[in-house]
Amino acid sequence: MKESDFITNIKPTWCVGCSNFAVRSALLKTFVKLGLKPQDIAMVFDIGCAGNSANWYKVYAFHGLHGRVIPVASGAKLANGDLTVIGIGGDGGMYGEGIGHLLQAARGNMDITVIVSNNQFYSLTTGQASPTTPKGTKTKSTPEGLIEMPLNPLSVAIAADASFVARGYTGEPVHLAELIEKAIQYKGFSLIDVLQPCVTLDKIHDYSWFKERVIKLDNNWPVKDKKVAIEKAEDLDKNIPIGIFYLKERPTYQEELPFLDNRPLIKQSFNKNKLKAILKDF
Ligand code: SF4
Repeated sequence: MKESDFITNIKPTWCVGCSNFAVRSALLKTFVKLGLKPQDIAMVFDIGCAGNSANWYKVYAFHGLHGRVIPVASGAKLANGDLTVIGIGGDGGMYGEGIGHLLQAARGNMDITVIVSNNQFYSLTTGQASPTTPKGTKTKSTPEGLIEMPLNPLSVAIAADASFVARGYTGEPVHLAELIEKAIQYKGFSLIDVLQPCVTLDKIHDYSWFKERVIKLDNNWPVKDKKVAIEKAEDLDKNIPIGIFYLKERPTYQEELPFLDNRPLIKQSFNKNKLKAILKDF
């Protein structure tokens, strides 16, 4: 398979130079590297700039309601555990409307990969404050400056015992592709928060701003230490580290359900009479 086998001929509507192109490119490279076929992959897309890529991938795809990527992705994985299931969205949908779902999937260790294009705005609607917007930022929805503190998605996910928690950056595309590859291969819930500068709306946090701050985590980073992972995720005063912060090995949601492990729902027999009885009761 080659990268072009995973894309449709529909032209992306992202702004020229949008860093979401780097996320897409990293995903395509990873699909090829892992030897996946389009029919092996299910992608679930949120509403927003990142989610707008729904039409441009030639895989099983679902473009749902705002913030509801993770329940749909979880359902797809439970129905067919053979699929590689990937949720795509932005910081608004995933950390705002969808945060409860994210925490639930992390706690349950649902075997899906969630990739969040985090540009600290609701960009598709032209720049309202999102859960990751820095305190004090003036936006269309916060003309006097944002009152709330920004949510740190990594430390929140680690606190919820997510199995794989990483931060990537679109200005480091090879590193980002490596993170995506590892996340897909990791058994359990994986979250990659991707620093994704919005080149149209954010004139402060542009590529030169990130270039001065982004550093890679050391190769010997102690990925199993929850406490230091949270501390490092929140340590953003001088630099912004990227890489895998935290790994936790534990059974996946499917493995906790004996009737699902190695026997996805689509491979189980369907008893119409049993269903009729349940519906009658209902
Ligand atoms: Fe990309 Fe920002 Fe344009 Fe959305 S508004 S497509 S995030 S550059």
